[in-house]
Amino acid sequence: MQTTLFINQKPASQKISPDTLSPTIIRSANRRRSMVIQIHPEKGVIIRAPIRASNDRISQFFKEKLPWIKKSLTKIQDKKSKIPKYNFVPGEKFPYLGAPTTLPVHSRAEVISWYKEKSKNFLTQRTLTFAKILSQKTGQKISPTKISIRSYRSRWGVCSRDNEISYNWKIIMAPIPIIDYLVCHELSHILNKNHSRRFYETLASIDPDYKLHQKYLRENSMALTI
Ligand SMILES: [Zn+2]
Repeated sequence: MQTTLFINQKPASQKISPDTLSPTIIRSANRRRSMVIQIHPEKGVIIRAPIRASNDRISQFFKEKLPWIKKSLTKIQDKKSKIPKYNFVPGEKFPYLGAPTTLPVHSRAEVISWYKEKSKNFLTQRTLTFAKILSQKTGQKISPTKISIRSYRSRWGVCSRDNEISYNWKIIMAPIPIIDYLVCHELSHILNKNHSRRFYETLASIDPDYKLHQKYLRENSMALTI
């Protein structure tokens, strides 16, 4: 029911570098039998091990998993490096519908309310347009009960049980095909309240390139923030 993405992650308190890896080892008493590795954006590498696991066994496990750990850490760093920094000075460009744009406002608060107003108008209009298209395709009346804009920390949109659709205003920074993908995604939830095969069939009927758009959103979510 949700399009979830991790955006606005707090920067790591310390930089995690694969060269200076020192995992935190947590031994748990409650019937844990196998070891798992977790990568926490701030705490770094965590190994959860059974209470009786020897240091050698943990160390061996860590060595085996090192290539995967390094790959995962690099991915996290890449994502973090995409977080843009703005100075809110005249002439500065901000992303709007995927293009660098000089906005008629300057302070952070003004920029946010400008984005919110634009996203409310644009997303309402796109939602109504695609609702009509989906209704024609399926022969069913597809009509959200409400369309609203919200500030979400880690999701792009929600379609409730009562078919109220809410969008994260930050999506207005993305290119139009990506915004349309999100609209089509939430509208498809009016017919399918899950991410089943039928849901994706519905979505593909109105956004045939949804996989590409989904991938773009996943990879660029960090850039769509101010
Ligand atoms: Zn969904």
